[in-house]
Amino acid sequence: MSSATSVIKLFNTLTRQEEEFQPIEAGRVRMYTCGPTVYDYAHIGNFRAFVFEDLLKRWLEHRGFQVTHVMNLTDVDDKTIKGSQQQGKPLREYTDFYAQAFFEDIKALNVKAATIYPRATDHIPEMVSLIKTLLQKGVAYRGEDGSVYFAISKFSEYGKLSHLRVQELKVGARVSQDEYAKEEAQDFALWKAWSCEDGNVFWETELGKGRPGWHIECSAMSMKYLGETFDIHCGGVDNMFPHHENEVAQSEAATGKPFVRYWMHNEHLLVEGKKMAKRLGNFYTLRDLLTKGLDPLAIRYLLLSTHYRQQFNFTFEALEAGKKAIERLANLQRRLLEANGKGGSGELDRLLTTVQRCFGDAMDDDLNVSVALASLFDFVRDVNNLLDESAISHEEATKVVAQIADFDKVLGVMPKPKEEILPAEAEVLIKKREDARKARDWKTADAARAQLKAMGIMVEDTAQGVRWKREKA
Ligand SMILES: [Zn+2]
Repeated sequence: MSSATSVIKLFNTLTRQEEEFQPIEAGRVRMYTCGPTVYDYAHIGNFRAFVFEDLLKRWLEHRGFQVTHVMNLTDVDDKTIKGSQQQGKPLREYTDFYAQAFFEDIKALNVKAATIYPRATDHIPEMVSLIKTLLQKGVAYRGEDGSVYFAISKFSEYGKLSHLRVQELKVGARVSQDEYAKEEAQDFALWKAWSCEDGNVFWETELGKGRPGWHIECSAMSMKYLGETFDIHCGGVDNMFPHHENEVAQSEAATGKPFVRYWMHNEHLLVEGKKMAKRLGNFYTLRDLLTKGLDPLAIRYLLLSTHYRQQFNFTFEALEAGKKAIERLANLQRRLLEANGKGGSGELDRLLTTVQRCFGDAMDDDLNVSVALASLFDFVRDVNNLLDESAISHEEATKVVAQIADFDKVLGVMPKPKEEILPAEAEVLIKKREDARKARDWKTADAARAQLKAMGIMVEDTAQGVRWKREKA
């Protein structure tokens, strides 16, 4: 149900307030989300971000927007180079492996594919051109190490996204590594001159022999595919500084235009109440959880069920509750398929109107998913009660089934319907009937058919063999 009158409000990190979402082009949303650094398997903290972004995209689509979604793959940076060297593999071969693993993981979590997944190493010319512009404008300079740095003192708005005060910054000091803390805010590397640690990873360009810094790739690729100003940029809160702050500085200093209109950041994920860390034994990749036999859709449900701006505590107990919640939805769908009550009281229509409004209002309110889910499960309870009273007709049930399927287009948590499995007893009877027919023993065949009918299973003989279906209640 898309509504022409609904207004989506989103919390904008740039202004630190909820704002009405207005895309640059009516009906169209251009969004960029920082993708994985493909040097290892992604962990569930990473997936919290990817699932939040997926929920946002699905909600925008639900409200009728056409979304162009770009997610980059960071396949050259300090970590990928180090990892490939440790494994003694060429960089591309090493990153291809983890890129593939990432695609398998998001598929398991039912995350919808982005429109495009540009890779950093395929966009070196775009980055070089952007850096050249920054040099021409005098906001970048070449250090004595041969690398090109961005001069944060030359961009007066530096710090506006992460709300750093410029006087706290060490003007003129430089940092060459990709990741650093707020306290170390200083001129950062746009292009890193080749050093022996880079081994055989380098490009010969107008900027000299070297490789790009991490931050410039997201500026170059987002603007290439989405334009110099686009609607939404998402990422984990840990990327706000320095990564996103630097993206803003590079892009706006180069174009003189606002880079992004709405910045959205999801909060951290804790595991069993603690920050995830390998030494604490609470560090999980998605694969670790799937190997334990845990259901990927329950993991998805859990990751999206807490508001994205709240810290989220991942526990195995909550995962079990997530699984039960999905089962409640699936059980209701099954019951509805068999509903054949009186109906017509108007009660069901009232429930449908309420849940549509409550779910929609909550999601429009900066994706308040916990309230949306609460209204959905109130609805599930009330419909179950009506089913207990045989108060839902077949036609009414069909409407509810469609409504739940519509909500699930947003949530993406319900398992795809599998082919129904025949009880073993029925399978034996079908075989018995077939054998009897081949032997022209019509009496036995008819008896088997009658027994199947008593079980609610209809058999028919087709050119392709015996087909069966459940008799409608
Ligand atoms: Zn990025």
